[in-house]
Amino acid sequence: MQWETVIGLEVHVQLATRSKIFSGASTAFGAEPNTQACAVDLGLPGVLPVLNEQAVAMAVQFGLAVHAEIPEVSVFDRKNYFYPDLPKGYQTSQMYHPIVGAGEVEITLDDDTTKRIRIHHAHLEEDAGKSLHEDFHGMTGIDLNRAGTPLLEIVSEPDMRSAKEAAAYLKAIHSIVTYLGISDGNMAEGSMRCDVNVSVRPKGQDVFGTRAEIKNVNSFRFVERAIAFEVERQIELIEDGGKVVQETRLFDPERDETRSMRTKEEANDYRYFPCPDLLPVVLDQAYLDHLRSQLPELPADKRTRFQSELGLSAYDANVLSASRDMAEFFEEVHRVCGDAKQAANWVQGELSGALNRENLSIQHSPVSAQQLGELISRVLDDTINGKAAKQVFQALWNGQGESADAVIEAKGLKQVTDTGAIEAMIDQVIAESPAQVAQYRDSEPEKRGKMIGYFVGQVMKASRGTANPQQVNGLLKEKLDALL
Ligand code: ADP
Ligand code: MG
Repeated sequence: MQWETVIGLEVHVQLATRSKIFSGASTAFGAEPNTQACAVDLGLPGVLPVLNEQAVAMAVQFGLAVHAEIPEVSVFDRKNYFYPDLPKGYQTSQMYHPIVGAGEVEITLDDDTTKRIRIHHAHLEEDAGKSLHEDFHGMTGIDLNRAGTPLLEIVSEPDMRSAKEAAAYLKAIHSIVTYLGISDGNMAEGSMRCDVNVSVRPKGQDVFGTRAEIKNVNSFRFVERAIAFEVERQIELIEDGGKVVQETRLFDPERDETRSMRTKEEANDYRYFPCPDLLPVVLDQAYLDHLRSQLPELPADKRTRFQSELGLSAYDANVLSASRDMAEFFEEVHRVCGDAKQAANWVQGELSGALNRENLSIQHSPVSAQQLGELISRVLDDTINGKAAKQVFQALWNGQGESADAVIEAKGLKQVTDTGAIEAMIDQVIAESPAQVAQYRDSEPEKRGKMIGYFVGQVMKASRGTANPQQVNGLLKEKLDALL
Protein backbone atom coordinates (compact mmCIF):
# COMPACT_ATOMS: atom_id res chain seq x y z
CA MET A 1 0.00 0.00 0.00
CA GLN A 2 1.27 3.49 -0.93
CA TRP A 3 0.59 6.18 1.67
CA GLU A 4 0.27 9.91 1.31
CA THR A 5 1.09 12.32 4.12
CA VAL A 6 -1.15 15.36 4.73
CA ILE A 7 0.09 18.22 6.89
CA GLY A 8 -1.40 21.50 8.09
CA LEU A 9 0.46 23.96 10.31
CA GLU A 10 -0.67 26.43 12.93
CA VAL A 11 2.24 28.83 13.38
CA HIS A 12 2.41 31.20 16.35
CA VAL A 13 4.47 34.27 15.64
CA GLN A 14 5.37 36.62 18.45
CA LEU A 15 4.89 40.16 17.17
CA ALA A 16 7.74 42.58 17.80
CA THR A 17 5.75 45.27 19.57
CA ARG A 18 7.45 47.03 22.48
CA SER A 19 4.45 46.65 24.76
CA LYS A 20 1.83 43.94 25.29
CA ILE A 21 -1.23 43.49 23.10
CA PHE A 22 -3.66 44.94 25.66
CA SER A 23 -1.43 46.81 28.13
CA GLY A 24 1.59 49.09 28.35
CA ALA A 25 3.83 46.45 30.02
CA SER A 26 7.12 45.72 28.28
CA THR A 27 7.59 42.66 26.08
CA ALA A 28 11.41 42.61 26.34
CA PHE A 29 12.85 39.09 26.51
CA GLY A 30 14.94 37.83 29.42
CA ALA A 31 13.75 40.07 32.28
CA GLU A 32 13.60 38.85 35.89
CA PRO A 33 10.50 36.66 36.29
CA ASN A 34 7.24 38.47 37.07
CA THR A 35 8.63 41.97 36.62
CA GLN A 36 6.81 42.69 33.34
CA ALA A 37 3.23 41.64 33.95
CA CYS A 38 0.82 44.37 34.95
CA ALA A 39 -2.72 44.31 36.36
CA VAL A 40 -4.21 44.12 32.86
CA ASP A 41 -2.06 41.13 31.88
CA LEU A 42 -3.18 39.37 35.06
CA GLY A 43 -6.83 40.28 34.48
CA LEU A 44 -7.23 41.77 37.95
CA PRO A 45 -10.74 43.08 38.74
CA GLY A 46 -11.53 46.57 37.55
CA VAL A 47 -8.96 46.84 34.77
CA LEU A 48 -9.74 47.23 31.07
CA PRO A 49 -7.63 46.12 28.12
CA VAL A 50 -6.71 48.61 25.39
CA LEU A 51 -5.72 47.17 22.02
CA ASN A 52 -2.17 47.92 20.87
CA GLU A 53 -2.51 49.50 17.43
CA GLN A 54 0.92 48.30 16.42
CA ALA A 55 -0.17 44.67 16.80
CA VAL A 56 -3.08 45.33 14.44
CA ALA A 57 -0.80 47.02 11.89
CA MET A 58 1.63 44.09 12.01
CA ALA A 59 -1.08 41.48 11.57
CA VAL A 60 -2.54 43.38 8.62
CA GLN A 61 0.88 43.76 7.02
CA PHE A 62 1.30 40.02 7.21
CA GLY A 63 -2.11 39.58 5.63
CA LEU A 64 -1.23 41.93 2.78
CA ALA A 65 2.09 40.13 2.27
CA VAL A 66 0.32 36.79 1.76
CA HIS A 67 -2.32 38.33 -0.52
CA ALA A 68 -5.05 37.64 2.02
CA GLU A 69 -8.46 39.16 2.29
CA ILE A 70 -8.54 41.64 5.17
CA PRO A 71 -12.10 41.74 6.54
CA GLU A 72 -13.40 45.16 7.48
CA VAL A 73 -14.41 43.96 10.94
CA SER A 74 -12.66 41.57 13.29
CA VAL A 75 -13.62 40.62 16.84
CA PHE A 76 -11.79 39.41 19.94
CA ASP A 77 -13.21 36.38 21.75
CA ARG A 78 -12.48 34.87 25.12
CA LYS A 79 -11.18 31.30 25.13
CA ASN A 80 -11.96 30.07 28.63
CA TYR A 81 -9.79 27.56 30.46
CA PHE A 82 -7.97 27.18 33.73
CA TYR A 83 -4.22 26.87 33.96
CA PRO A 84 -1.78 28.27 36.54
CA ASP A 85 0.02 30.37 33.94
CA LEU A 86 -3.27 31.99 32.89
CA PRO A 87 -4.50 33.91 35.93
CA LYS A 88 -7.24 35.64 33.90
CA GLY A 89 -8.98 32.31 33.39
CA TYR A 90 -9.31 33.02 29.69
CA GLN A 91 -7.09 33.83 26.74
CA THR A 92 -8.17 36.74 24.57
CA SER A 93 -8.10 35.44 21.01
CA GLN A 94 -10.12 35.63 17.78
CA MET A 95 -12.32 32.66 17.00
CA TYR A 96 -15.11 33.73 14.65
CA HIS A 97 -13.89 36.93 12.99
CA PRO A 98 -10.11 36.84 12.60
CA ILE A 99 -8.17 39.88 11.45
CA VAL A 100 -6.68 38.14 8.38
CA GLY A 101 -8.72 36.01 5.99
CA ALA A 102 -7.68 33.47 3.36
CA GLY A 103 -4.33 33.96 1.62
CA GLU A 104 -1.42 31.98 0.21
CA VAL A 105 2.33 31.51 0.49
CA GLU A 106 4.76 30.28 -2.13
CA ILE A 107 7.30 27.74 -0.92
CA THR A 108 10.49 26.62 -2.66
CA LEU A 109 11.45 22.96 -2.65
CA ASP A 110 14.87 21.31 -2.87
CA ASP A 111 14.67 20.89 -6.65
CA ASP A 112 13.98 24.67 -6.93
CA THR A 113 10.36 24.13 -7.92
CA THR A 114 7.73 26.17 -6.12
CA LYS A 115 4.34 25.29 -4.66
CA ARG A 116 1.51 27.40 -3.29
CA ILE A 117 0.25 26.68 0.23
CA ARG A 118 -3.09 28.21 1.12
CA ILE A 119 -3.54 30.04 4.39
CA HIS A 120 -6.93 29.52 5.97
CA HIS A 121 -6.73 32.64 8.16
CA ALA A 122 -4.53 34.36 10.74
CA HIS A 123 -5.74 35.73 14.03
CA LEU A 124 -4.41 37.85 16.87
CA GLU A 125 -4.22 36.54 20.42
CA GLU A 126 -2.30 37.02 23.64
CA ASP A 127 0.32 34.62 24.93
CA ALA A 128 0.01 33.01 28.36
CA GLY A 129 2.68 32.96 31.09
CA LYS A 130 5.26 30.23 31.41
CA SER A 131 5.42 27.29 33.80
CA LEU A 132 8.97 26.50 34.90
CA HIS A 133 9.13 22.84 35.85
CA GLU A 134 12.88 22.38 35.97
CA ASP A 135 14.09 25.12 38.26
CA PHE A 136 12.25 24.21 41.44
CA HIS A 137 12.54 20.84 43.09
CA GLY A 138 9.11 19.26 43.44
CA MET A 139 7.39 22.51 42.56
CA THR A 140 6.48 24.53 39.49
CA GLY A 141 7.43 28.17 39.10
CA ILE A 142 5.17 30.57 37.22
CA ASP A 143 6.64 33.46 35.24
CA LEU A 144 3.95 35.79 33.93
CA ASN A 145 6.24 38.10 31.95
CA ARG A 146 5.07 36.55 28.70
CA ALA A 147 1.37 36.92 29.57
CA GLY A 148 -0.24 39.35 27.16
CA THR A 149 2.55 39.23 24.57
CA PRO A 150 0.96 39.63 21.12
CA LEU A 151 0.86 36.55 18.92
CA LEU A 152 -0.29 36.13 15.36
CA GLU A 153 -1.51 32.59 14.78
CA ILE A 154 -1.27 31.64 11.12
CA VAL A 155 -3.38 28.61 10.18
CA SER A 156 -2.60 26.84 6.92
CA GLU A 157 -4.88 24.62 4.86
CA PRO A 158 -3.80 20.95 4.91
CA ASP A 159 -1.83 21.51 1.69
CA MET A 160 1.56 20.06 2.55
CA ARG A 161 2.45 16.53 1.51
CA SER A 162 5.82 15.88 3.15
CA ALA A 163 8.01 16.89 6.09
CA LYS A 164 10.22 18.80 3.65
CA GLU A 165 7.25 20.83 2.40
CA ALA A 166 6.24 21.62 5.98
CA ALA A 167 9.76 22.81 6.80
CA ALA A 168 9.85 24.87 3.59
CA TYR A 169 6.50 26.43 4.52
CA LEU A 170 7.75 27.32 7.99
CA LYS A 171 10.86 28.85 6.43
CA ALA A 172 8.72 30.88 4.04
CA ILE A 173 6.64 32.22 6.94
CA HIS A 174 9.81 32.95 8.89
CA SER A 175 11.26 34.86 6.00
CA ILE A 176 8.06 36.87 5.40
CA VAL A 177 7.67 37.95 9.03
CA THR A 178 11.34 38.89 9.37
CA TYR A 179 11.30 40.80 6.05
CA LEU A 180 8.27 42.69 7.33
CA GLY A 181 10.05 43.26 10.63
CA ILE A 182 6.91 42.21 12.52
CA SER A 183 8.79 39.51 14.46
CA ASP A 184 12.40 38.76 15.29
CA GLY A 185 11.63 35.17 14.26
CA ASN A 186 13.93 33.89 17.00
CA MET A 187 12.83 30.28 17.38
CA ALA A 188 15.23 29.51 20.21
CA GLU A 189 13.56 32.24 22.30
CA GLY A 190 10.10 31.01 21.33
CA SER A 191 9.25 33.89 18.98
CA MET A 192 7.99 31.35 16.48
CA ARG A 193 6.53 27.96 17.39
CA CYS A 194 4.09 25.73 15.62
CA ASP A 195 1.49 23.03 16.04
CA VAL A 196 1.87 20.38 13.37
CA ASN A 197 -1.26 18.51 12.19
CA VAL A 198 -0.41 15.22 10.53
CA SER A 199 -2.51 12.50 8.91
CA VAL A 200 -1.94 9.77 6.35
CA ARG A 201 -4.22 8.28 3.70
CA PRO A 202 -3.89 5.64 1.00
CA LYS A 203 -2.55 7.27 -2.16
CA GLY A 204 -5.42 8.22 -4.45
CA GLN A 205 -8.03 8.44 -1.67
CA ASP A 206 -9.97 11.72 -1.62
CA VAL A 207 -10.94 12.09 2.02
CA PHE A 208 -8.32 12.94 4.60
CA GLY A 209 -7.31 10.52 7.31
CA THR A 210 -7.75 11.31 11.01
CA ARG A 211 -5.08 13.71 12.19
CA ALA A 212 -2.91 14.04 15.24
CA GLU A 213 -1.79 17.50 16.35
CA ILE A 214 1.77 17.81 17.61
CA LYS A 215 2.02 20.80 19.90
CA ASN A 216 4.67 23.46 20.25
CA VAL A 217 7.42 22.38 17.91
CA ASN A 218 10.07 25.07 17.96
CA SER A 219 12.66 24.41 15.27
CA PHE A 220 12.73 23.63 11.56
CA ARG A 221 14.59 20.41 12.26
CA PHE A 222 12.14 19.28 14.93
CA VAL A 223 9.23 19.86 12.55
CA GLU A 224 10.77 17.43 10.08
CA ARG A 225 11.66 14.88 12.73
CA ALA A 226 8.30 15.04 14.48
CA ILE A 227 6.50 14.50 11.16
CA ALA A 228 8.79 11.64 10.14
CA PHE A 229 8.10 9.84 13.43
CA GLU A 230 4.38 10.55 13.38
CA VAL A 231 3.89 9.38 9.78
CA GLU A 232 5.62 6.11 10.53
CA ARG A 233 3.60 5.64 13.71
CA GLN A 234 0.29 6.21 11.95
CA ILE A 235 1.08 3.95 8.99
CA GLU A 236 2.22 1.15 11.27
CA LEU A 237 -0.87 1.56 13.41
CA ILE A 238 -3.23 1.34 10.43
CA GLU A 239 -1.36 -1.51 8.79
CA ASP A 240 -1.63 -3.45 12.06
CA GLY A 241 -5.41 -3.04 11.86
CA GLY A 242 -5.61 -0.14 14.31
CA LYS A 243 -7.13 3.33 13.91
CA VAL A 244 -5.56 6.74 14.33
CA VAL A 245 -7.44 8.71 16.99
CA GLN A 246 -7.70 12.47 16.88
CA GLU A 247 -5.46 13.65 19.67
CA THR A 248 -2.88 16.13 20.81
CA ARG A 249 0.68 14.82 20.99
CA LEU A 250 3.96 16.17 22.26
CA PHE A 251 7.28 15.86 20.42
CA ASP A 252 10.20 14.78 22.59
CA PRO A 253 13.42 15.80 20.83
CA GLU A 254 15.58 13.76 23.23
CA ARG A 255 13.87 10.48 22.33
CA ASP A 256 12.87 11.58 18.83
CA GLU A 257 9.25 10.51 19.24
CA THR A 258 5.77 11.94 19.83
CA ARG A 259 3.63 11.02 22.84
CA SER A 260 -0.07 11.39 23.47
CA MET A 261 -1.12 14.34 25.67
CA ARG A 262 -4.89 14.21 25.40
CA THR A 263 -7.49 12.74 23.07
CA LYS A 264 -10.42 14.54 21.54
CA GLU A 265 -12.82 13.22 24.20
CA GLU A 266 -10.72 14.90 26.85
CA ALA A 267 -10.52 18.15 24.89
CA ASN A 268 -11.71 21.31 26.57
CA ASP A 269 -14.87 23.12 25.65
CA TYR A 270 -13.50 26.62 25.64
CA ARG A 271 -16.85 28.38 25.66
CA TYR A 272 -15.70 31.06 23.27
CA PHE A 273 -17.66 34.31 23.42
CA PRO A 274 -16.95 37.84 22.21
CA CYS A 275 -14.87 39.76 24.75
CA PRO A 276 -17.17 42.38 26.25
CA ASP A 277 -14.19 44.56 27.21
CA LEU A 278 -12.95 45.10 23.67
CA LEU A 279 -14.59 46.84 20.73
CA PRO A 280 -14.63 45.18 17.33
CA VAL A 281 -11.70 46.28 15.18
CA VAL A 282 -12.87 48.20 12.11
CA LEU A 283 -10.35 48.90 9.36
CA ASP A 284 -11.01 51.28 6.50
CA GLN A 285 -9.58 51.25 2.99
CA ALA A 286 -7.30 54.25 3.58
CA TYR A 287 -5.65 52.45 6.48
CA LEU A 288 -5.07 49.32 4.39
CA ASP A 289 -3.71 51.41 1.51
CA HIS A 290 -1.35 53.17 3.88
CA LEU A 291 -0.01 49.87 5.25
CA ARG A 292 0.28 48.44 1.76
CA SER A 293 2.41 51.41 0.72
CA GLN A 294 4.81 50.61 3.58
CA LEU A 295 5.45 47.01 2.54
CA PRO A 296 9.06 46.19 1.67
CA GLU A 297 9.95 44.04 -1.34
CA LEU A 298 9.05 40.54 -0.16
CA PRO A 299 11.16 37.37 -0.41
CA ALA A 300 9.26 35.81 -3.32
CA ASP A 301 9.50 39.05 -5.35
CA LYS A 302 13.17 39.41 -4.55
CA ARG A 303 13.81 35.81 -5.56
CA THR A 304 12.11 36.37 -8.91
CA ARG A 305 13.95 39.64 -9.51
CA PHE A 306 17.33 38.13 -8.62
CA GLN A 307 16.75 35.60 -11.39
CA SER A 308 15.14 37.78 -14.05
CA GLU A 309 17.12 41.00 -13.55
CA LEU A 310 20.44 39.81 -12.18
CA GLY A 311 20.59 36.48 -13.99
CA LEU A 312 21.18 34.41 -10.83
CA SER A 313 20.34 30.71 -10.78
CA ALA A 314 17.18 29.63 -8.97
CA TYR A 315 19.36 28.14 -6.26
CA ASP A 316 21.41 31.30 -5.69
CA ALA A 317 18.32 33.50 -5.81
CA ASN A 318 16.63 31.32 -3.24
CA VAL A 319 19.53 31.24 -0.79
CA LEU A 320 20.22 34.96 -1.10
CA SER A 321 16.61 36.05 -0.67
CA ALA A 322 15.79 33.81 2.29
CA SER A 323 16.75 36.39 4.87
CA ARG A 324 16.35 40.12 4.46
CA ASP A 325 19.75 40.83 6.02
CA MET A 326 21.45 38.43 3.62
CA ALA A 327 19.55 39.87 0.64
CA GLU A 328 20.42 43.45 1.54
CA PHE A 329 24.07 42.58 2.10
CA PHE A 330 24.23 40.85 -1.27
CA GLU A 331 22.53 43.75 -3.02
CA GLU A 332 25.03 46.21 -1.55
CA VAL A 333 27.99 44.03 -2.62
CA HIS A 334 26.48 43.86 -6.09
CA ARG A 335 25.94 47.62 -6.20
CA VAL A 336 29.61 48.22 -5.36
CA CYS A 337 31.20 45.61 -7.68
CA GLY A 338 28.63 45.48 -10.48
CA ASP A 339 28.87 41.71 -10.99
CA ALA A 340 25.91 39.76 -9.59
CA LYS A 341 27.38 36.29 -10.11
CA GLN A 342 30.65 37.18 -8.39
CA ALA A 343 28.79 38.94 -5.57
CA ALA A 344 26.59 35.85 -5.13
CA ASN A 345 29.60 33.52 -5.10
CA TRP A 346 31.50 35.53 -2.51
CA VAL A 347 28.53 36.05 -0.21
CA GLN A 348 27.56 32.38 -0.30
CA GLY A 349 31.11 31.06 -0.37
CA GLU A 350 33.94 32.80 1.45
CA LEU A 351 31.72 35.09 3.54
CA SER A 352 29.07 32.57 4.61
CA GLY A 353 31.79 30.01 5.34
CA ALA A 354 33.60 32.42 7.65
CA LEU A 355 30.35 33.51 9.33
CA ASN A 356 29.35 29.89 9.96
CA ARG A 357 32.75 28.98 11.37
CA GLU A 358 32.49 31.77 13.92
CA ASN A 359 28.75 31.40 14.37
CA LEU A 360 28.07 35.01 13.41
CA SER A 361 25.00 36.40 11.69
CA ILE A 362 25.53 38.52 8.61
CA GLN A 363 24.62 41.75 10.44
CA HIS A 364 27.70 41.16 12.56
CA SER A 365 30.02 40.39 9.66
CA PRO A 366 33.47 41.87 10.32
CA VAL A 367 33.76 42.44 6.55
CA SER A 368 31.24 45.04 5.36
CA ALA A 369 29.34 44.80 2.09
CA GLN A 370 31.25 47.86 0.87
CA GLN A 371 34.60 46.20 1.64
CA LEU A 372 33.62 42.94 -0.01
CA GLY A 373 32.30 44.77 -3.07
CA GLU A 374 35.60 46.65 -3.46
CA LEU A 375 37.56 43.44 -3.02
CA ILE A 376 35.59 41.78 -5.82
CA SER A 377 36.15 44.85 -8.02
CA ARG A 378 39.89 44.36 -7.62
CA VAL A 379 39.60 40.80 -8.87
CA LEU A 380 37.41 41.90 -11.76
CA ASP A 381 39.84 44.61 -12.87
CA ASP A 382 42.77 42.16 -12.54
CA THR A 383 44.50 44.11 -9.78
CA ILE A 384 44.71 40.86 -7.80
CA ASN A 385 44.22 37.20 -8.61
CA GLY A 386 41.80 34.83 -6.92
CA LYS A 387 44.37 33.50 -4.53
CA ALA A 388 45.41 36.92 -3.31
CA ALA A 389 41.73 37.86 -3.02
CA LYS A 390 41.32 35.19 -0.36
CA GLN A 391 44.24 36.63 1.56
CA VAL A 392 42.75 40.11 1.31
CA PHE A 393 39.42 38.78 2.55
CA GLN A 394 41.12 37.13 5.52
CA ALA A 395 42.96 40.33 6.36
CA LEU A 396 39.76 42.38 6.21
CA TRP A 397 38.03 39.76 8.35
CA ASN A 398 40.79 40.07 10.94
CA GLY A 399 40.60 43.85 10.89
CA GLN A 400 44.07 44.22 9.34
CA GLY A 401 43.15 47.03 6.99
CA GLU A 402 40.39 49.51 6.22
CA SER A 403 39.80 48.51 2.63
CA ALA A 404 40.79 45.97 0.00
CA ASP A 405 43.09 48.56 -1.60
CA ALA A 406 44.82 49.27 1.70
CA VAL A 407 45.43 45.55 2.30
CA ILE A 408 46.66 44.98 -1.27
CA GLU A 409 49.08 47.88 -0.87
CA ALA A 410 50.28 46.91 2.61
CA LYS A 411 50.81 43.25 1.76
CA GLY A 412 52.13 43.81 -1.75
CA LEU A 413 49.50 41.54 -3.27
CA LYS A 414 49.13 43.39 -6.53
CA GLN A 415 49.03 40.88 -9.32
CA VAL A 416 52.24 40.61 -11.35
CA THR A 417 51.34 40.71 -15.04
CA ASP A 418 54.68 41.98 -16.30
CA THR A 419 55.85 39.22 -18.66
CA GLY A 420 59.50 39.96 -18.02
CA ALA A 421 59.11 39.59 -14.26
CA ILE A 422 57.18 36.34 -14.60
CA GLU A 423 59.73 34.93 -17.04
CA ALA A 424 62.53 35.72 -14.63
CA MET A 425 60.76 33.76 -11.89
CA ILE A 426 60.11 30.86 -14.26
CA ASP A 427 63.76 30.74 -15.34
CA GLN A 428 64.81 30.59 -11.73
CA VAL A 429 62.39 27.79 -10.88
CA ILE A 430 63.48 25.77 -13.93
CA ALA A 431 67.12 26.28 -13.02
CA GLU A 432 66.46 25.04 -9.48
CA SER A 433 64.45 21.97 -10.52
CA PRO A 434 66.65 19.85 -12.82
CA ALA A 435 65.11 16.57 -11.66
CA GLN A 436 61.55 17.70 -12.37
CA VAL A 437 62.57 19.14 -15.72
CA ALA A 438 64.13 15.79 -16.69
CA GLN A 439 60.96 14.01 -15.58
CA TYR A 440 58.86 16.42 -17.64
CA ARG A 441 61.04 15.83 -20.67
CA ASP A 442 60.87 12.02 -20.32
CA SER A 443 57.12 11.71 -19.81
CA GLU A 444 54.49 11.05 -22.44
CA PRO A 445 53.24 14.27 -24.07
CA GLU A 446 49.72 13.75 -22.72
CA LYS A 447 51.04 13.45 -19.15
CA ARG A 448 53.00 16.69 -19.31
CA GLY A 449 49.93 18.83 -18.81
CA LYS A 450 49.50 17.34 -15.38
CA MET A 451 53.18 17.67 -14.48
CA ILE A 452 53.16 21.36 -15.19
CA GLY A 453 51.25 21.83 -11.95
CA TYR A 454 54.44 21.41 -9.93
CA PHE A 455 56.14 24.25 -11.77
CA VAL A 456 53.10 26.52 -11.55
CA GLY A 457 53.04 25.95 -7.81
CA GLN A 458 56.72 26.87 -7.47
CA VAL A 459 56.37 30.03 -9.52
CA MET A 460 53.27 31.11 -7.62
CA LYS A 461 55.17 30.51 -4.42
CA ALA A 462 58.13 32.53 -5.64
CA SER A 463 55.73 35.39 -6.42
CA ARG A 464 54.05 35.01 -3.02
CA GLY A 465 50.84 34.21 -4.86
CA THR A 466 50.78 37.41 -6.88
CA ALA A 467 51.70 36.21 -10.36
CA ASN A 468 48.88 36.05 -12.88
CA PRO A 469 48.12 32.30 -13.02
CA GLN A 470 47.07 32.25 -16.69
CA GLN A 471 50.27 33.95 -17.74
CA VAL A 472 52.36 31.64 -15.57
CA ASN A 473 50.72 28.64 -17.18
CA GLY A 474 51.20 29.86 -20.73
CA LEU A 475 54.79 31.01 -20.32
CA LEU A 476 55.82 27.89 -18.42
CA LYS A 477 54.51 25.64 -21.15
CA GLU A 478 56.44 27.59 -23.77
CA LYS A 479 59.67 27.50 -21.81
CA LEU A 480 59.45 23.85 -20.81
CA ASP A 481 58.55 22.75 -24.30
CA ALA A 482 61.52 24.72 -25.60
CA LEU A 483 63.69 22.41 -23.49
CA LEU A 484 62.37 19.21 -25.07
P1 ADP B 1 -9.30 22.82 14.80
O1 ADP B 1 -10.23 23.95 14.69
O2 ADP B 1 -9.84 21.64 15.49
O3 ADP B 1 -7.94 23.19 15.30
P2 ADP B 1 -8.93 23.05 11.98
O4 ADP B 1 -9.86 22.51 10.97
O5 ADP B 1 -8.94 24.50 12.23
O6 ADP B 1 -9.10 22.26 13.31
O7 ADP B 1 -7.49 22.64 11.53
C1 ADP B 1 -6.37 22.96 12.26
C2 ADP B 1 -5.15 22.66 11.40
O8 ADP B 1 -5.13 21.28 11.06
C3 ADP B 1 -5.12 23.39 10.09
O9 ADP B 1 -3.80 23.85 9.87
C4 ADP B 1 -5.51 22.34 9.06
O10 ADP B 1 -4.86 22.58 7.85
C5 ADP B 1 -4.98 21.08 9.67
N1 ADP B 1 -5.75 19.87 9.31
C6 ADP B 1 -7.06 19.71 9.31
N2 ADP B 1 -7.39 18.47 8.94
C7 ADP B 1 -6.24 17.80 8.72
C8 ADP B 1 -5.92 16.45 8.33
N3 ADP B 1 -6.84 15.54 8.14
N4 ADP B 1 -4.61 16.14 8.20
C9 ADP B 1 -3.66 17.05 8.43
N5 ADP B 1 -3.91 18.30 8.79
C10 ADP B 1 -5.18 18.69 8.95
MG1 MG C 1 -6.46 24.58 16.15
